[in-house]
Amino acid sequence: MSAPAVRREIPYRYRLMGTKCLNCGALFHPPQRICPKCGSKDLVEEELAWRGRLVAYTVIRRPPKGYEDYKPYIVGLIELKDGKLILAQIVDCDIEEVRPGLKLEATFRRIREDGKSGIIEYGYKFRPVIEWNWQKKPNPEK
Ligand SMILES: [Zn+2]
Repeated sequence: MSAPAVRREIPYRYRLMGTKCLNCGALFHPPQRICPKCGSKDLVEEELAWRGRLVAYTVIRRPPKGYEDYKPYIVGLIELKDGKLILAQIVDCDIEEVRPGLKLEATFRRIREDGKSGIIEYGYKFRPVIEWNWQKKPNPEK
């Protein structure tokens, strides 16, 4: 990938950006220049919701080249709060604990490291939402 192309991609890697069609209201990720639904060119950038729930998942045990260090890992289809579906890696979650309906939130993590160039790619992944129960404080005030 050329340097300008990498720079253009940065906002999309570090924020969960999509585009919204002003004609039909559809949301797209990755961002589109022309609406695949209605063909309109009136699209604006829109930051996607950060939380969602797991719809389906698969465990990758034989990953593609460059991702061997991460196996096994979970790739999930996540429905964001605005209804948009997104495919992403699920982290901080045991394979035994992953299940459809799991509440997730986006987090920025290292995606992979290129050994030759030393470039480390970052991007978003999703992790389970930890719901704090303030009624059950471990050290209640006395
Ligand atoms: Zn449209």
